[in-house]
Amino acid sequence: MTTNCEKHEFQSEAKQVLELMIHSVYSNPDIFVRELISNASDALDKLRIEALSDSSLSEFAKEPKIEILVDKKNNTLTISDNGIGMSKEDLVSYLGTIAKSGTKEFMKAMKEAKSNSSGDLIGQFGVGFYSCFIAADKVRVETKKAGLDKAFVWESEGDGTFTISEGTRNSNGTTIVMSMKKNENTDEHDLDTDYLSEWTLRGIIKKYSDFVTYPIFIKDMNKEVKPEDEPEKDAPINSMKALWTRSESDVTDDEYKEFYRHISHDWEDPLERISYKAEGTSEFCALLYIPARQPMDLFFQDGKHGVQLYIKRVFIMNDCKDLIPEYLRFIKGVVDSEDLSLNVSREILQQNRQTNLIKSSLTRKVLDSLRKMKQDKPEDYNKFWDTFGIVLKEGIISDQKNKEQIMKLCMFDSSKGNKTTLEEYVSKMSSDQKKIYYITGSNKSTLSASPKLEAFRKRDIEVLLLGDGVDEIWVNNTPKFNDFDFVSISSENLELPDSLLGEDEKKDKEELEKSGLLTKIKEALVGTVEDVTFSTRLVDSPACFVQKGEEISPQMRNFFQSMGQPVPEEKKVLEINPSHQLIKKIAENYENDMSNVSEWGTMLVGLATIAEGDSITDSKKFTESLTKLLSK
Ligand code: ADP
Ligand code: MG
Repeated sequence: MTTNCEKHEFQSEAKQVLELMIHSVYSNPDIFVRELISNASDALDKLRIEALSDSSLSEFAKEPKIEILVDKKNNTLTISDNGIGMSKEDLVSYLGTIAKSGTKEFMKAMKEAKSNSSGDLIGQFGVGFYSCFIAADKVRVETKKAGLDKAFVWESEGDGTFTISEGTRNSNGTTIVMSMKKNENTDEHDLDTDYLSEWTLRGIIKKYSDFVTYPIFIKDMNKEVKPEDEPEKDAPINSMKALWTRSESDVTDDEYKEFYRHISHDWEDPLERISYKAEGTSEFCALLYIPARQPMDLFFQDGKHGVQLYIKRVFIMNDCKDLIPEYLRFIKGVVDSEDLSLNVSREILQQNRQTNLIKSSLTRKVLDSLRKMKQDKPEDYNKFWDTFGIVLKEGIISDQKNKEQIMKLCMFDSSKGNKTTLEEYVSKMSSDQKKIYYITGSNKSTLSASPKLEAFRKRDIEVLLLGDGVDEIWVNNTPKFNDFDFVSISSENLELPDSLLGEDEKKDKEELEKSGLLTKIKEALVGTVEDVTFSTRLVDSPACFVQKGEEISPQMRNFFQSMGQPVPEEKKVLEINPSHQLIKKIAENYENDMSNVSEWGTMLVGLATIAEGDSITDSKKFTESLTKLLSK
């Protein structure tokens, strides 16, 4: 070891991952090969892309390749690339800490899972560089960053510390030398995990890394090369053929899934795959996937979009926000354009005509695939809807062009129990129903218990229960579906179809009017509610609140407040049910004794508040009134 060799500690999370790599038993240890090759391929991508804008780097970006050396005699496996390389600082921060979210997620899943399934979990995650300690007990990384003078060596036995010293490598790139683990009893490699067998390695690389766009070569250091073997030695192991350029019938399901894993770092199989080839004014290929679960950053401000941009088979950038609308941000995949120029930047993409063409045809294609999925694979579609429906609905507001189509894809909770689409809703309406009725709020169960639904249930009219925050926004901005207006059943001037009002109800209303109770309650509640009126929407409940003017739910209220905007004033109207036993009783008593009207008013306001799922604001007044009435 050289004299200027520095010793470093791994960050504590990195230590935990290393512990796992070293001590657990894995059902699929092969994955370390995939991880190291994927890092080499990333490093080659980075160098090529930086060289596009920095011509001083272009001399380093020639003949990109990944080489694997097998040395049985010295018991080492070496994987090297001539990519971007790492500086000393890079080595300390990239190979000494864990920054990437994938690994954090993995640690979380490990903690949640039973310890005995850890082996399976590990194979399913992209756990990165540290996976080399699955197969090696000592790792040496020698690297030189393109454009810098010095090479550095990182060494570790995975025991909590690593060292950094100067190296002798004189070309850019990274070489990882692994001293391989042996079976403690036999001092031999176990047969199925013999990573020093050229044939084992070829199989693994074919399986996991065939589509890597740089050639991967393998060389057995202990094999004497005869002159006649030369041509074979030169052939790369991987086909390097981009999956999306091959015809779908030539690619196996497993290959598609492996590719999904490669680009998404998701360990679960995707729910759906969408292939698309556009010709004409805009020529491009796309291979897209719908994941089966929500990524962690789906609702983060700076969350990642999943689409990668390639231009003529060459990788250009990750996370390309301009190719897919915000409301389809859950889509993962690859877009490969024939028309864009190789040195596009994010800024250029933003106002590029080609980009817009790609975006609008991808949007159409994805929406159409969803429509087909809904029709042909309803179970999968339900799963999709539960996972990403809330995001898709944003499109009703943001994508005027495809709004209708998106609305048809929506599934809403219904007062009749099951989920319904708007088309189903409309097709089941009776001939004198002319509107689509809905109620908004914070969750399905409070909504379905709302007293406002009573009259609708009694008259067998379906009501949409819109429980997501985004619903309130689109429903207020979308007056119609198929010529039918959306009407909130909480709005003040709700008119139910005439034919649906009963004779008894009319009589009850007249009687209550005569008693004068309504006016008295109104007087008692001045300052508490805007108005008190008769209700036609109640059956089993004595009272409820409705909204005068535009409706503002508690969520919208919070939203306005968090944006620092003034909250529109809320005007609540108390509606009372003239046919309800309680109301009839109050009216009867009232004729003899008027002294308790104010307490009854407070009671009715309280009951209506509780029915909304809210809590009583003036609980002192409420309990006092209740006590007084009970004592009588
Ligand atoms: P990830 O690849 O997801 O970022 P890894 O644990 O696989 O996570 O690698 C960590 C980091 O180490 C990489 O992001 C990269 O910056 C650096 N790195 C790893 N291998 C190489 C390599 N062969 N060449 C250059 N940098 C590398
Ligand atoms: Mg990696």
